[in-house]
Order: sequence, then structure tokens, then C-alpha cells
Amino acid sequence: MRSHAVSLGLLLATGLLLVTRPIRAADPHFDGKSWWATVSVLADDKFEGRNTGSPGERAAQDYVVGQLRALGIRPAGTQGYFQPIDLKSRTIDEAQSSIVLIRDGQEQPLSLGREAYFSTRIDLAPFVAAPLVFVGYGLQVPEQGYDDYAGLDLKGKIAVTLAGSPEPMSAALGAHYQTAAERWKALKAAGAIGVLALPNPASMDIPWSRMALSRTQASMALVGAEFNDTPGELFLATFNPEYADLLFAGSGHTFAAIAALAKERKPLPRFALPVSLRAKAQVVSEPVHSNNLVAVIPGTDPRLGAEYVVLSAHLDHLGVGQAINGDRIYNGAMDNASGAAMLLDVARALQQGHLRLKRSVLFVWVTGEEKGLLGSRYFAARPTVPEPDIVADLNTDMFLPIVPLKILTVYGLAESDLGDRVSAVAQHLGYAVQADPEPLRNSFVRSDQYSFIKHGVPSLALKVGFLPGAPEEPLFKQWLTERYHAPSDDIDQPVNLAAAGGFEDVMFALTVSVADAPERPAWKSDSFFRRFATAKP
Ligand SMILES: [Zn+2]
Repeated sequence: MRSHAVSLGLLLATGLLLVTRPIRAADPHFDGKSWWATVSVLADDKFEGRNTGSPGERAAQDYVVGQLRALGIRPAGTQGYFQPIDLKSRTIDEAQSSIVLIRDGQEQPLSLGREAYFSTRIDLAPFVAAPLVFVGYGLQVPEQGYDDYAGLDLKGKIAVTLAGSPEPMSAALGAHYQTAAERWKALKAAGAIGVLALPNPASMDIPWSRMALSRTQASMALVGAEFNDTPGELFLATFNPEYADLLFAGSGHTFAAIAALAKERKPLPRFALPVSLRAKAQVVSEPVHSNNLVAVIPGTDPRLGAEYVVLSAHLDHLGVGQAINGDRIYNGAMDNASGAAMLLDVARALQQGHLRLKRSVLFVWVTGEEKGLLGSRYFAARPTVPEPDIVADLNTDMFLPIVPLKILTVYGLAESDLGDRVSAVAQHLGYAVQADPEPLRNSFVRSDQYSFIKHGVPSLALKVGFLPGAPEEPLFKQWLTERYHAPSDDIDQPVNLAAAGGFEDVMFALTVSVADAPERPAWKSDSFFRRFATAKP
């Protein structure tokens, strides 16, 4: 058992006094058991994978609400604990849809699911026909004078992109400019009409076969033009890298050579392809209703009590889908019953420990994360508390306690003084921290903290980490390959309860540290993401 008798107030990081309240012996030490008990409920088959807007998701939310009520934790939504959200679903009707490559007048129909599949993340046009241009990483980064579109004629054309970013671009910067919104802004300005996206074989989390399996699942979008990131984008599809030479043949380049460069984050050639594309897409759209779930533990300071530290975690997952090994329920135990349960544990510990924190702590279980960060995006745009009073977001998504906790990976570590706080807290508890060791995976923009970052709120996301090359590394890789977004991410998998408990200790201490600090968190002066705090979208 770790001693908590040391005053955190003695700890200094970069000259900043971090905590005014000493950590007391009465502070909780989490053992992972309550966490696992909640994960086991939320990931039960009876909630049918908690798909956004589904009865299973609502039942899981009702379970969390019941727990909050029993604890006496107050609602902070717009309808009790709930913040209703209007969405629309989009489902591709593949039987009525097609993609054909045209080379030298010869037509080659693609087999949807094998060579390519449509993305319904955008409002697909019923019909497009356009030449293809390979644009490398498809990045335009003005602050680095970097432009993959310079010198290319993209007017009326479809841009073929390869996921990734060149060195020495930071992971955060590369990830931000690869988002659909940022990429489309630049491509639209260049006159393009769509995107054909090649995953980077060096950074694919899951094999193509599993990626393609989910293509006929409904995607979703927030209702409202202000939430449309891709106005004017007519075509979006993903292309199987294994068949990429169907695009590159005759161009003087092979995909193998290009992928080898991308693996090393080297500059890529960019050129018009000797092939064009014709596509027909039929999409069925339906209204969907879901909710974010919001609760608050009020702060006690007369002034700082009006400010909010947000703890967020998505409660939705993928629902019921294509069977893998005879199992159709995508339980999402790690993704993200794990984070949702962690929030509940921290809320319970704060409430039952009668800790009197200066700032209020707002617990937000968002919906629609798997559909593109929709719930958090809605919440960040229309928060249920005054937007300027949100001082931080600490997000947890799939923190993967599958090995002993020695090191935490912190997304956003160098971006704000929240990074200094988590470093001090972790050090006190005996853990190391590191920035994102896998920049190619774009993790910084892949979960709900990003919605808050875009509204100027200093944010962090934490995971159980490993050092590159450490014996744990293949275990994480194997977990992604076998369980990520698969029905086997369920409660019949090995987890390390001590690691989960240690992670909760860190999140609890970090929450206390941020809520009790005299000053609100601030972006670092050299952070790229600081711009959103001054020019809010
Ligand atoms: Zn997920």
C-alpha cells in the first residue's frame, strides 16, 4: 500500500506551486475492483454494445444515473442528468452503389469491401466522376510553410491521400491537420470535390478485413449546418492499401515505394494519377436521438466554485454488428466502459470522501464518440454550464490497464500546464509520464478531448503506457489487432486490476490538483492549440 502522507504542496514543477491541499491519509486508494464491477455491468450483453441512440445505450445511461442518484450527486444536464442531442444516421445501400476505376477508357468496377468502401461520414453525392490526384499526406500546414497541394491542379478532382505526416512535424500538428474538417477546408479551397483515403499500412490499428466489416453500419452526424465540417465534399471512400497499385500503375511510382517513405515519415511525391473514378452512392438517412449525461459536484470556493473541471468519457460503443467468431455484440469493455466506470469511481470517491474542492467537478458521459466525437462536440459547442467557466477537460478513453502501470502516456503533455500537473501527480504516486510515443496513430484528435481543445479548453487524455521497444509493446499491438472494435473487447479478457486502480489514483489526484489550484490551467505560450483559446470557433 502506497503512503499518501506526503504533502503534494511541496512538489514544484516548472516553478509552479501545484496543490494547496495536502493529500491526506483518508484519500482513496483504488484497487480496481469497483472499477471492474462497473465495467462488467456496462459491458454486459444486455446493453447490446451501447450503440448511439439505441435502447441499450439508454439502459446503460439509466444505470449510471441510478448510481449518481444513490450517491446524491446532482444532475447538470438540460433535462435532469440528460442533454438531448438530435442526430441523423446514414447507411450505404451497397447493392445500389458502385465505384468504377477508368484507365485508358477501360472500366474496372471495384468490389466494395475488398478494394474500397464508401465513407458515410459525409453527405455523399448520388453520382460523381472525376480524375484522381495523389496528394501525399494531404496536409496543408501554413505555420510550417508546408503544402501538399502546391503546384497541383485539383479543380474538380478527387484527392488520393495516404494517412501520416512528415518529420519533423509534431504529432499534435500532424493529427490536427489530418482531421476531416481541416483537410477539407484546404482541399475545398483548391477546388477538389472529394477524397479517396489510403490507410498507412505502418499505422493501421486493425486489419483491412475488420475495417471493411463495419462499412455497412450506420454512421451519424449532428443535425445543424454549424456542425457540418465538410460542406461541398461529394465523395469520400477508403481504399485498401493492398490494392493501391490499381491506382498507381502507370504513374511511374509503386505503392510499395511510397509506403516505405511514409513509414519513415519522409516527404512523399505528389502527382496526377493516370486513372479516374466514377461512383454512384445510395444512402438511407434516419433521425436518431441520444443524450449526453452530465452531473456535478459543486465547488466550495466563493469565487472558484463557479468554474468547472470537466471529466469526460464516452459511454457509447458500436452496438450489434457483423459477427466475428459467432459473436455479434460489440461490448466495448475497454472502449469505453473502462473510462465511463473510472468517472463513476472518481465521482463516488469525491462524494463519499466529503472532499471540499474549490472548483466544481463536472462529469460528462458523452454519446456518439464512435460516430466521430459527436456528443463531445455538441457539449463543447452548447455546454450546460457557462462556456467561459470550463477550465479544463480530463478525458479518458480506453486507457488499457492490460499491463502493470509504470508509465502513463499523456496526450497533450507539452501543450498546457496540465502536463506539469499530471507529471507531478504521477511522480508523487510513483509513475513516469511520456508524450505520445506513436505519433502516426493520431491519438490526440481521436477522442473527446479534441472537442474541448477546439473550444480553447486546456485538455489532457491519459492511458496506461509503455516505452517503445519494451516487452509490453507487442501486448498492446496484439490487443488492438485482436480486440479493438471487435466483439472480443468484452469482460472475458485479462485486465490488470492494480494498473486500473493506479490509473484511478492518478486521475483522482489530478482532478483534486486542478480543482484546487489557485490559477486556472493555461496553454503553453508555444502550443499550437492555444490559438483556439483566443479565436473560438
Ligand atoms: Zn472506439
